[in-house]
Amino acid sequence: MNIKAGIVGYGNLGQAVEYLIGKLDDFELFGIFSRRETLDTNATVYPVADAHKYKDDIDVLFLCVGSATDIPEQAAGFAEHFTTVDTYDNHSKVAEHYAAMDQAAKANDNVAIVSTGWDPGLFSMNRVLGLSLFPEPIQNTFWGKGLSQGHSDAVRQVAGVRRGVQYTIPAQDAIDQARAGNGQGLSKTTSHERIVYIVADAADHDRIREEITTMPDYFEPYDTTVHFVSNEEFERDHQGAPHGGYVITTGDLQGHNASVEFSLALESNPNFTAAAMVAFGRAAARLKDQGNSGAYTVLEVPLYLLSQQSLQEMMETGL
Ligand code: NDP
Repeated sequence: MNIKAGIVGYGNLGQAVEYLIGKLDDFELFGIFSRRETLDTNATVYPVADAHKYKDDIDVLFLCVGSATDIPEQAAGFAEHFTTVDTYDNHSKVAEHYAAMDQAAKANDNVAIVSTGWDPGLFSMNRVLGLSLFPEPIQNTFWGKGLSQGHSDAVRQVAGVRRGVQYTIPAQDAIDQARAGNGQGLSKTTSHERIVYIVADAADHDRIREEITTMPDYFEPYDTTVHFVSNEEFERDHQGAPHGGYVITTGDLQGHNASVEFSLALESNPNFTAAAMVAFGRAAARLKDQGNSGAYTVLEVPLYLLSQQSLQEMMETGL
């Protein structure tokens, strides 16, 4: 089956999905739908307002727009016309989003896989797996090394900061405690450090460091370190969007600790989010092909549907 794909929104995620579709032989790209008239791509670009006209040309529409407002405002509209996949990442509103997508998709015989990516997404799958294994599981999630957009924006608001970026890093001793089965009392605050890199005039360094490390909520409760670097160093070392983390679950089995762990070390957050999204795009096309409709979380999608291999091939190659 060759899956005809459309992409809505051409930011980091949309560009990464386009790249993957070009690399995978079971997908082909129909085109990109954007609010902007021209994009820096060789693909065909359509105005997003016209998307519904192409509903019969597309098997899966990748919704690569932002989670803050775009997905709540637009996603269900797309689910009326297309089988969709999204990476909606507002954890507290996933159930609401799922309900809206389910209604729109079911009414129109489409499939909508919601909140793919890695958190939510692959982390969610591994949280559920870990928690299902033990009578009294202890579970911790650690994030990082990761670039935090919100905290980077906050440091850039401090007077005198010319360039700034913030990374969240999990504390190694907290990870070790979690692995040993002692993660019960760990809080997010004490389990993570914040490392900040700033470009600023030397005369402002002390004040900037003080303002950042004492910033309520954002930095004050955390172990925060501020480094000042040259513009050249910033340009060389701080242009990427790394992220990742660990989901660690332990259980006591008759006095024996069992530790189950899923970890990600990503040099580029959007590139990997796209990789997960595209695999779920494959599953969405297959679910639809099998005659299903409605919304699915990642937890409801049979794992084999993500793979390019068939279930039979997987069993024959010694799963
Ligand atoms: P971007 O900010 O790069 O893009 C979001 C939208 O903004 C695009 O779809 C695009 O729409 C518009 N846009 C992008 N660049 C420009 C520009 N230069 N000028 C004008 N408009 C632009 O976000 P990302 O692609 O990095 O992320 C998308 C979403 O993915 C995030 O909101 C986040 O919630 C989610 N995500 C989920 C993860 C998960 O694990 N579940 C992990 C990481 C991210 P248009 O083409 O229509 O203009």
